[in-house]
Amino acid sequence: MKKSLGVLLLAVLAVSFMACTGGGGGGASGTPTIGVAIYKFDDTFMSYTRNAIQSNAQGKATLEVVDSQNAQPTQNDQVDAFLSKKLSAIAINPVDRTAASTIIDKSKAANVPVVFFNREPLPEDMSKWDKVYYVGAKAEESGSMQGEIAYDYIQATPGADKNGDGKIQYLMLKGEPGHQDAELRTQFSIKYLTDKGIQVELLAEDTAMWDRPQAVTKMDAWIARFGDSIEMVFCNNDDMALGVIESLRNAGYFQGGKYLPVLGVDATTPALQALAEGTLLGTVLNDADGQGKATFDVAFALATGADPASSADVTNGKYVWVPYQKVTRDNYTQFQK
Ligand code: BGC
Ligand code: CA
Repeated sequence: MKKSLGVLLLAVLAVSFMACTGGGGGGASGTPTIGVAIYKFDDTFMSYTRNAIQSNAQGKATLEVVDSQNAQPTQNDQVDAFLSKKLSAIAINPVDRTAASTIIDKSKAANVPVVFFNREPLPEDMSKWDKVYYVGAKAEESGSMQGEIAYDYIQATPGADKNGDGKIQYLMLKGEPGHQDAELRTQFSIKYLTDKGIQVELLAEDTAMWDRPQAVTKMDAWIARFGDSIEMVFCNNDDMALGVIESLRNAGYFQGGKYLPVLGVDATTPALQALAEGTLLGTVLNDADGQGKATFDVAFALATGADPASSADVTNGKYVWVPYQKVTRDNYTQFQK
């Protein structure tokens, strides 16, 4: 009897202590704590986005940022931990975007608002709860812009069709299959050209999983197989474009007048450098600063009970679209930091 009274007293004390500190969601100085999970830290573009989220949080919120190491089970555990601590909001960059469904169910049950970014959940998942948001960019837009840069090059370069067969022979290096940016960039870059009446012929398409070393390996094999018949190389991101350029350089390109147009997306610092050097034909700004800021602003609004629409441009009640921009030799200096 005495013992159970003691336990009860402890429990009461614990509860009142929790109430004073505002529960698990309160940060050290009374600011909200927001959990952030990144699909993997070792991704150039995501490291830019992560930095932007962190700098926007300065002085406003405490962040718990975790690396999901490209494993959805790891991320699921991390989400469970965020929810059991009752953080004020969570911002998730899913490893597998179809896993968003389960994450939404759990967040809803725990009443912890969730903002997804960079990897877009399916519309039917997004509509499961009103405290679910997505911050990203319209993938088709980046594809069309890449196509536009390719088109301008073809129009301005008499020798673009190297073998003069009236078609552009191209290679397509894709990001992770199933990622909206990989699928739609692949489709819309070529669609832009064919809509403009350019004839194209796909020599080969493969994934290098957004990764530079994998792109070098794939391109080495393609150069061995297709040699001079390659007329253009499309890459779903800059890291892979830089891998392709590295491989081409090793094969003697970009010296003595030997050239191949290579296109990327993201406008990373090394990609802008490659533009300056004349190896990369063009890229598309994937605005990590804008996406990181919007991700934080929406999560912070949800964490503090404010309306996300007051700090971000919200479409259809739950989407924030950050625009892309074409980057070529004509304007790249504007994007250098
Ligand atoms: C970027 C890639 C990045 C991927 C990660 C894309 O939007 O363009 O560089 O690897 O997101 O999900
Ligand atoms: Ca040709």
